[in-house]
Amino acid sequence: MHFVEVAVPVPLRQSFTYSSDAVPQPGCRVIVPFGPRKVVGVVLGESSNPANISKIKPLDTVLDEAAVIDEVQLTLCHWLSQYYLHPIGEVIHTVLPVLLRKGESARPVDERWWKVKGNGEENVASLTRAKRQAACLQVLLNGPMRDSELKSHFATTVIKGLADKALIVEENRPPPLKPRMWLTDLKIGSKPLPDKEQGVAIAAINQSRGQFAPFLLEGVTGSGKTEVYLQAIEEVLAGGQQVLILVPEIGLTPQTVSRFAKRFGIDIGVLHSQLNDKDRLAVWQRAREGELGIIIGTRSAIFTPLKFPGMIIVDEEHDESYKQQDGLRYHARDLAVMRASTENVPLVLGTATPSLETLNNALSKRYGHLHLTKRAGGAVQTHQHLLDVRDQRMQFGLADGMISIMRQHLSMGNQVLVFVNRRGYAPALLCHHCGHSVDCRRCERPYTVHRSQQRLQCHHCGGVKPIPKQCPQCGEHSLVTAGVGTEQIEEGLAQLFAGVKQVRIDSDSVRGKDKLQRTLDDINGQKYQLLIGTQILSKGHHFPHVTLVVVMDCDGALFSADFRASEKLAQLVTQLAGRAGRASKPGEMWLQTHNPGHPLLQDLIHNGYHHFARQALEERKLAAMPPFQSQAVIRAEATHGAMAWDFLEQAKQILATDNVRLNGPLPCLIEKRQGRYRFMLVLQGTQRKAINTLLRKALPNLSALPLATRVRWSLDVDPSDFS
Ligand code: ADP
Ligand code: ZN
Repeated sequence: MHFVEVAVPVPLRQSFTYSSDAVPQPGCRVIVPFGPRKVVGVVLGESSNPANISKIKPLDTVLDEAAVIDEVQLTLCHWLSQYYLHPIGEVIHTVLPVLLRKGESARPVDERWWKVKGNGEENVASLTRAKRQAACLQVLLNGPMRDSELKSHFATTVIKGLADKALIVEENRPPPLKPRMWLTDLKIGSKPLPDKEQGVAIAAINQSRGQFAPFLLEGVTGSGKTEVYLQAIEEVLAGGQQVLILVPEIGLTPQTVSRFAKRFGIDIGVLHSQLNDKDRLAVWQRAREGELGIIIGTRSAIFTPLKFPGMIIVDEEHDESYKQQDGLRYHARDLAVMRASTENVPLVLGTATPSLETLNNALSKRYGHLHLTKRAGGAVQTHQHLLDVRDQRMQFGLADGMISIMRQHLSMGNQVLVFVNRRGYAPALLCHHCGHSVDCRRCERPYTVHRSQQRLQCHHCGGVKPIPKQCPQCGEHSLVTAGVGTEQIEEGLAQLFAGVKQVRIDSDSVRGKDKLQRTLDDINGQKYQLLIGTQILSKGHHFPHVTLVVVMDCDGALFSADFRASEKLAQLVTQLAGRAGRASKPGEMWLQTHNPGHPLLQDLIHNGYHHFARQALEERKLAAMPPFQSQAVIRAEATHGAMAWDFLEQAKQILATDNVRLNGPLPCLIEKRQGRYRFMLVLQGTQRKAINTLLRKALPNLSALPLATRVRWSLDVDPSDFS
């Protein structure tokens, strides 16, 4: 009799002991009894001397012969659990593909094949009146063939006809996984000669193969970062090793994947949110068996197992989508660092606008720092200007001065990009008679008016309702919209620039997989002259014909309660500027503001992100804020706000210590959501370790508080915002 430790997907910060005749390999899945249920757990190892032996239950079934979570992944799971103070069972559950969580076989999914039955030669001869069937059978006489391949030669009816006559039969076979399959297919497409800076970067990365070496590749937009990735990857692939590439959002950058495919001519594993569970598992298996040379995916792709790990790349490392905002609140970029160090591979963090965290690591020499300072192909940087809108006449949110600049660019046949930070028609609906604002009752925030869909939508909880005809408070028919969103700008610009073809790009207008790509193609085919959109426009698309970028309003971020707001604004503005003026057309950018003298805006437009970011880091240092101090936040929410508050007050007493500062309880930036009031307690200190130790010791006591089961609470280590 042996005892094994099993990680079980329950919100308890421990593993559980079961008895077993043999000890399965760590990383194998098992079915175990848990209370009245049976659950899928993962074996962590043998227990040395368990307590209460008489109470230990035997495990039910061992699902795998070999570990589905390899040693490296198991190490990372333990790290995640310890660093983010998250239950190990839930961590492992997050890391596993959905089908494996459900207990399905971890062996590659079988493929359908067809083979001849009976005497094939004779049967071909007998099929004189069915020529296609005879031809199909003839093909199969050379040997069995995959269903998919056979169907590419013959109609389904032909195959079915033969099957009905029992001349051929189906057979399921496991797919032959071929480690390093890419080595046979690899054909390097045409590539540009790297310039001097690119050459230095590629050499530095390649010289670090086989060891842990993190790099910040800081290159202005269009400077050829992707080209550096491509040429560094080439060597890794040729050396028989795999590359894992993280991107913020594949739906937004389909051209990235095709660029990799074109360069290497090999099959690429793509992991994105629209993939079904079966296809996701297939990519996971092919990566694990070492068949795929390149795997590209969004945040959770960082969990993909690699048989021959060679390099990890995190593109647009500053992007907020790398932080998971519920459940296991990990940061994929930080996990990438851990993973690269565990696997001894180089890590490339690429961006034009490094996060202050990464920049600090590079400036303090913990990371190598590679620079690309010039745009490839000689294109010049976009010139940035501030437009003082004080006392200016405004039409649809645009100052007269701005409108005339737009006219100039349009009259020369160029494209103009207008950035608006809100989608929908208007961010509020007010009664012109009594002043009542139509709010989402569950969040106590104004509804956004969506005219195109004829409804109100709450952008906090997603709740929708029809647009009322009269004021719900006074009954007058005097409802008016306040503020402007993309839909309204679109409507206004159609009046201001009659006859100019325009297109709106936001998450409402480009729903659906191919819609965005088609719209982008149409833009670059110059079907439109005026582009109106949100954040989506700042993400990696190239608009060679855009010569003017207009930011409608950048004042909000200057006065935000979020200390990262200025960093985020600077990244957005810089990324937007990078969309314009490629190739031979120089671009300019105008920011409308009521605060033209604001030091942040001044620094950004005159000195660029590079300078701004270093300045901002100095300020963070003086203010003792991240990345110079570490933070964690405990959030609590409840329908009765007082309960959430009291819970955090009690937590604060438990946590009280000398070396970690406790701020709060405070209302979260989103004070109410879905009917629950939200508060937070912020822990801050110079030592990450001290916060971790403090929380680890206190968590059992926090969980034991009577209020702990009556409020919703969660822990967020290294929070990226306080919403
Ligand atoms: P980034 O990833 O920094 O935005 P890209 O790698 O996409 O930059 O490069 C921008 C454009 O310049 C692309 O069209 C790319 O093919 C081209 N390019 C990159 N490097 C070179 C080079 N060394 N010589 C010529 N063209 C290049
Ligand atoms: Zn709401």
